[in-house]
Amino acid sequence: MAEVIDLQGRKGKERRIAEGRARRRAEAVASSLSCGMCPRRCAHCGQPAEFVAPPPMDAPYPFCEVCQEEYEAFRRLEKGGEPEAFWHTPQWATTWRTWLAHMQANQEFRGSPAFLKLMEEHLD
Ligand SMILES: [Zn+2]
Repeated sequence: MAEVIDLQGRKGKERRIAEGRARRRAEAVASSLSCGMCPRRCAHCGQPAEFVAPPPMDAPYPFCEVCQEEYEAFRRLEKGGEPEAFWHTPQWATTWRTWLAHMQANQEFRGSPAFLKLMEEHLD
């Protein structure tokens, strides 16, 4: 009988460890998706910023003044414009393109049933 109780105790401990691990993974997923969501920080560079202009329609993220200028230069370049600075290279444009795709993917995942279930099951 003592062995049965011990076995139940071990299974309970294993279950608590598995629940703790699942909770930490859920927290990591939620944390990784919150980058760029701070209300008083630039979504792109993370610097504290005062936002006076509404986010651009085609990139609904709050940018600091400098990132807003860079974003607009990127958009002009994407529409066939000329580079406006020496660093406005194809690689620079790729960083903007992939950052925007990353932010869009985060937004879509945050709204997905799988993400909502993960948060319901493992976070308060
Ligand atoms: Zn910025």
